[in-house]
Amino acid sequence: MAVVLVTGGSGLVGKAIEWQVEHNHPSTNGAKFIFLSSKDADLRNLEQTRTAFMKHKPTHVIHLAARVGGLFKNMRSKVEMMTENIMINQNVLQCAHECGVDRCVSMTSTCVFPDKIPKYPITEDQLHDGPPHPSNEGYAYAKRMLEVLSRAYNEQYDRSYLTVIPTNVFGPHDNYSIEDGHVAPGLMHKCYLAKQRGEDLIIWGTGKPLRQFIFSRDLADLVIWATLTYTGKDSLMLCPDENEEITISELAKTVAECMDFPLDRLKYDTSKADGQEKKTVSNSRLRGLRPDFHFTPFKDAMKISTDWFQENYDKCRM
Ligand code: NDP
Repeated sequence: MAVVLVTGGSGLVGKAIEWQVEHNHPSTNGAKFIFLSSKDADLRNLEQTRTAFMKHKPTHVIHLAARVGGLFKNMRSKVEMMTENIMINQNVLQCAHECGVDRCVSMTSTCVFPDKIPKYPITEDQLHDGPPHPSNEGYAYAKRMLEVLSRAYNEQYDRSYLTVIPTNVFGPHDNYSIEDGHVAPGLMHKCYLAKQRGEDLIIWGTGKPLRQFIFSRDLADLVIWATLTYTGKDSLMLCPDENEEITISELAKTVAECMDFPLDRLKYDTSKADGQEKKTVSNSRLRGLRPDFHFTPFKDAMKISTDWFQENYDKCRM
């Protein structure tokens, strides 16, 4: 029986994988899933990582654990974003290899791709074609090295280590920190507070940057498939189709609608940074493999996410 060890199992994506397993998603195929959090092992530490791997003896690994943050945390903590992610990634891949794990699917991110792209949409092959945006270079280079290290294990030891690359993820169990979180959960939290206090909802930046979003449960579905069914080794973008790209302003309006907040009270603080103007990626490799994959419509997914946030406000990470 396949035993799938999920690092970062207590986070946004890990919880979505757990949800799919609990709902008997067909791709799980009877496999046993084990979800690790930092309380089980601090993956920055090689011995703790090795002990966790020896204990669970996985046949497959889904590697999600990372020090993650939005634009502002990335700008403030470049050293930790780089060193801690490098340590975690190196330890996880080393222990997976030592334990004879043949399939390890690790998560990188579209935000680590080059800042200047001659022609959109971005494809998997462009990862190393130029420097990342200066705001997140610590995180970006750590994630790029994860891709290089996965390929190195494949070349040198004939492993099947794959990196998957989601766009912005949202869903239940996100990090709702306004200062340090990602844009979607941060907006949910600000909307919640604005509603309670009878204030305007202030959106940071101009609202004009374009972004692609993937619902965590759709991402979980694809990651389980990539681990247990798909056997390819070439990095894979995981995101809805290009025509689903939206502005931050459209995102804020959808959040507000889902939370019954009046749209005429959305205001923009243009003194705050926008980040990259756009980073449109192509999902054509994924579509070649999964032409019929159905992504949850954005508004339905956002409604599930905002409802979950409001119902669980007291126990959310923030
Ligand atoms: P979360 O921040 O929600 O969760 C991070 C997970 O990593 C938690 O389970 C956390 O454990 C674990 N973790 C962090 N540090 C350590 C450590 N030192 N030792 C062991 N475990 C640790 O992340 P997401 O679910 O959002 O992200 C999952 C993956 O997807 C990451 O690799 C991220 O880079 C990538 N990604 C995320 C995007 C997004 O929009 N969220 C976009 C693109 C890529 P604990 O709960 O105990 O702290």
